[in-house]
Amino acid sequence: MSIEVVNITKSYKNFTALKDVSLHIPEGELVALLGPSGSGKTTLLRLIAGLEQPEQGSILFNGEDNTDRDVRERRVGFVFQHYALFRHMTIFDNIAFGLTVRSRKTRPSKAEIQERVHSLLKLVQLEGLAHRYPSQLSGGQRQRVALARALAVEPKFLLLDEPFGALDTKVRQELRRWLRHLHEKLGLTILFVTHDQEEAMELADQVVVMNEGRVEQVGSPEEIYNQPANPFVYSFLGRVNLFHGRIHDGKVKLGEAEFETQWAQRPGEFPAVGYMRPHDVEITLAPKSRQSVQAQIRHISLLGPIVRLDLKRLDTNEVFEAELTRQRFAELALEERGIVYVTLHNLSFYVESAPAVAPTPVLVPLRASM
Ligand code: ADP
Ligand code: MG
Repeated sequence: MSIEVVNITKSYKNFTALKDVSLHIPEGELVALLGPSGSGKTTLLRLIAGLEQPEQGSILFNGEDNTDRDVRERRVGFVFQHYALFRHMTIFDNIAFGLTVRSRKTRPSKAEIQERVHSLLKLVQLEGLAHRYPSQLSGGQRQRVALARALAVEPKFLLLDEPFGALDTKVRQELRRWLRHLHEKLGLTILFVTHDQEEAMELADQVVVMNEGRVEQVGSPEEIYNQPANPFVYSFLGRVNLFHGRIHDGKVKLGEAEFETQWAQRPGEFPAVGYMRPHDVEITLAPKSRQSVQAQIRHISLLGPIVRLDLKRLDTNEVFEAELTRQRFAELALEERGIVYVTLHNLSFYVESAPAVAPTPVLVPLRASM
């Protein structure tokens, strides 16, 4: 089932948690809502589920307005980070709960419930644990039970609010992979909340990046990583270096390095900030091109498969990071306080667009070429 969120605004007292949010979640997709804590992710999920009412806007399922329907009528399955299972009930009874509480008319027979719970236990790979209690399971197993419980009532879609947030890294990674398989198998529409960019990138067909109650960008993991719409998205998706300079006649000057951009049409000179990822810094012992500048290594961190260098440019004194493979690091025989040449690849600039066109200046991304 597709979900359409149209111009939703939601406030708590005088605090606006969601500001004119619109979103389309196509049928059968796994969509991640990604954003820092407090950006409004849970609020949006609760509105879609029918646990909260918006002041403005509407929520459609398959094109049908559900804004005024209550939570039961919406038939939504959800799993929260701390949605504890019923401790005094077995795993079987926990999963069956949503079916056994139905009125007699709509309740499946005992045999049907039995069959459905067992097929769900199989689906979440917990066969044989039906008679255990939640305290006898690991955290990862409990979240799988919570998912089975959500699926038992045959929801039209699943809302998952940081379902693996309380688990340790290794279990999270396993569950992520497992959830992706489950999604492929069931083809159910899933909206998944996370503040972990790696989790969003690995799992989702589409990622919705949120910040301060607004949607900043929607796109595939590749789109949002390779073409971040603005500095917020750029910085939220990974480590970033900032370089300050000026644009003049379509050329950006960052210290002694100069770059061409498509920004030639605008006369005059104005400030520009270049954003780049540490793995796009190329380190050499001799200048690589006209853009190469000198930098001093201030610190070396060995981080498993990669090595991170803290560097300081000699022309501008700006500090920044570079990441390289262990192999490249060994080839170059780098040491702290040593001087190297750096070449900056894949810089993005965000400059204010002409205010004559837009009422308020907006930042537009620019790619620099060498
Ligand atoms: P997220 O899930 O992205 O961390 P939330 O949707 O939980 O963010 O919250 C968004 C903002 O709304 C936060 O600043 C939070 O403090 C506020 N908020 C959430 N729920 C309530 C509430 N019931 N009353 C008052 N403020 C709330
Ligand atoms: Mg939340």
